[in-house]
Amino acid sequence: MSTRRVIYMDHSATTPVDPRVVEAMLPYFTERYGNPSSVYRLGAEARAAIEAARQTIAELIGARPKEILFTSCGTESDNLALRGVAWASRHKGRHIITTPIEHHAVTHTCEQLEREFGFRITYVPVDRDGLVDPEDVARAITDETILISVMYANNEVGTIEPIAEIGQIARERGIPFHTDAVQAGGQLPIDVDALHVDLLSLSGHKFYAPKGVGALYVREGTPLLPTQTGGGQEFHRRAGTENVPYIVGMAKALELAYASLDEEAPRLQRLRDRLIEGVLERIPGARLTGHRTQRLPGHASFVFGGVDGEAILMYLDRANVAASTGSACASSESGPSPVLEAMGITGRQALGSLRLSLGRENTEEDVEYVLRVLPPIIEKLREFSPICPDAALR
Ligand code: PLP
Repeated sequence: MSTRRVIYMDHSATTPVDPRVVEAMLPYFTERYGNPSSVYRLGAEARAAIEAARQTIAELIGARPKEILFTSCGTESDNLALRGVAWASRHKGRHIITTPIEHHAVTHTCEQLEREFGFRITYVPVDRDGLVDPEDVARAITDETILISVMYANNEVGTIEPIAEIGQIARERGIPFHTDAVQAGGQLPIDVDALHVDLLSLSGHKFYAPKGVGALYVREGTPLLPTQTGGGQEFHRRAGTENVPYIVGMAKALELAYASLDEEAPRLQRLRDRLIEGVLERIPGARLTGHRTQRLPGHASFVFGGVDGEAILMYLDRANVAASTGSACASSESGPSPVLEAMGITGRQALGSLRLSLGRENTEEDVEYVLRVLPPIIEKLREFSPICPDAALR
């Protein structure tokens, strides 16, 4: 095993936990370990920590504390938003509008609502850059529509969606609007009123908190049935003893992320732009996926025709670079990614995808290193690739 530092460029998958976050969490494992529902002091301390975390997160996104529910992850937040609103509104209508580029936490929940519960799902298209046209959302609305769900920023291609415009349309028509902000949390400013959202999902491990903790913002008055029943925690909307240390950690992490956003976002953007320019310049046939500028600050994603994405990752790993294809399905075995397909990138071209997502520890040197090692990897793979080489030029 090499002792060289791994150049981690997969921050859209997960992030390391910030040591300041660990420090904030530690007392809640061993000293302040009470159950927040217990009446004695230890319990009250844990309760106070949760309510302080709720207040912090609410303030950071322009919400009120009682509109924040803590969950176990971004997936649970998405599931609760969709299923919770669908179940609560099923007598009003059974039509949901979403997009083909959502995370599986949204798409698979919609598919189940359709298959098992008789809901109808409309997937509004996206353009070549992965952008949703708000007018398409407006046109898809019917008297039966009970929910619209469009992600804030896409995990695979980084495109930032026009959430405020879509939210405005949903608001005018009186339809609850959910956004999956798992990739946006801590990276893009969030103001639930300016965005006109009624439900918003967050996940701690995307912004330097641990894996296994999330939050769902639910605007007061939004119909929502709990999907997890039991105790009365989280305002009777999400049963289960709260994960106190992780909740404390998530609030601390979000606070730190927004405190440094004004410096960190432009820094990441500069590194990202250098990476994009370098890759497009040095690798023939490389194509950027997602919008050129309206994208997450540290997110660069590409397709390289004529190669397999999984093979690129293996070679990068040998060069001590941790990256991703951008999608769990973007390998030759499981077929092309539905997100790329929805953007018109099909067949063999879509198989050679690569996502490089930058974060706090990445430096200019890291970017230059990747720009040195990546072109020969693609060249070598193209030489040996069983995939049609002309795909590179399409
Ligand atoms: N939504 C998006 C856009 C994501 O990128 C992810 C994780 O990659 C999730 C939801 C799921 O979050 P979690 O890993 O916390 O379940």
